[in-house]
Amino acid sequence: MPKVTETILEINLSHLEHNYRILRSKIDPKTKFLAVVKAFGYGSDAVIIAKKLEELGTDYLAVAYVQEGVQLRKAGVKIPILVLHPQPINFEALLKNKLEPSLYSKHVLKHFLALAEKKGLKEYPVHLKFNTGLNRLGFLEDDIPLINDLFNQTNNLKASWIFSHLAASEDKNENAFTIEQIETFESIATKLDLQLKNATFKHLLNTSGILNYSTYQYDMVRSGIGLYGFGNHPDFDDELKPIATLKTIISQIHTIEPGKTVGYNRAFKSKAQTKTATLPIGHADGIGRQYGNGTTYVTVNNQKAYIIGNVCMDMIMIDITDINCQEGDEVIIFGKNPTADSFASNANTISYELLTGISQRVKRIFVPY
Ligand SMILES: *Cc1c(COP(=O)(O)O)cnc(C)c1O
Repeated sequence: MPKVTETILEINLSHLEHNYRILRSKIDPKTKFLAVVKAFGYGSDAVIIAKKLEELGTDYLAVAYVQEGVQLRKAGVKIPILVLHPQPINFEALLKNKLEPSLYSKHVLKHFLALAEKKGLKEYPVHLKFNTGLNRLGFLEDDIPLINDLFNQTNNLKASWIFSHLAASEDKNENAFTIEQIETFESIATKLDLQLKNATFKHLLNTSGILNYSTYQYDMVRSGIGLYGFGNHPDFDDELKPIATLKTIISQIHTIEPGKTVGYNRAFKSKAQTKTATLPIGHADGIGRQYGNGTTYVTVNNQKAYIIGNVCMDMIMIDITDINCQEGDEVIIFGKNPTADSFASNANTISYELLTGISQRVKRIFVPY
């Protein structure tokens, strides 16, 4: 592997392929696979990830917002793209780029239908989102008569898919709640199927849903975090391989005498002589202040080095007192050790937040091995 000379986020595309194959092996070959590449492919690179997944045979992609989908189309991605959370202001761009909207409220549905009529669209595919307990986005069961009326009166739109999202699919203690969500979803699907003129397909499961509730895979599953290497449970984490490694180097080494302080607000006070290393990465790169002051560690030559003092905008300082290392040496912020999951959990957050927070200032490097 080439020597690291600055802060980089290394993305391993063979790990992506591995994760894709593992996740696919958990579902029926006939079930479609939607890969969630929102937020720059969970902080990696949406275009490169989407193209690789398209090449591997992924059926569908999903992004959160229209602009994310436009970027994929501009890069030449051809497979269907679901936009999970579009706003009416962006519907024109959505249509121009052949993106499929999630319609999640009467407001959004009416706006989209009006535009579809104006443009004379023919059976444009949409995904109807139902709220079955997450209470974030979606129609309720009570909205079904209105939806049936609207869709049975128009041929501008086609309710190709209905979907919902589980609130706690990773948590076995919430099994009863999850089953309730599934039952609500099935009841909605039955009522729509009885009345809508077009048959609708269904999707429900996210990564943890695939791993814990694969019975309910229906016609398609939606996976994000699993593709990036995390299964929200130690058993599944072992099967998957994190695709991202955040690496940096030691910029400078200092010897801090007892009683001296390090960094802003003098937050670290040295009790004994301490050797510190300054790294060219800070909260502007996505390593937030919650990771400072001894909450979490990075590794230098595979040894733990805790982040000391406050995280600065462009730098962090680590304790390397007992580590044999030099200026210019490589530092792993997260990757194999520590994993993004453990790095995040030491500061009471989750891999999703850590990964998607790595700012665009950090150079992305793609490795095929
Ligand atoms: C982000 C998202 C997903 C992906 O969830 P993972 O836990 O990352 O697999 C699936 N569905 C919806 C609606 C989402 O917003």
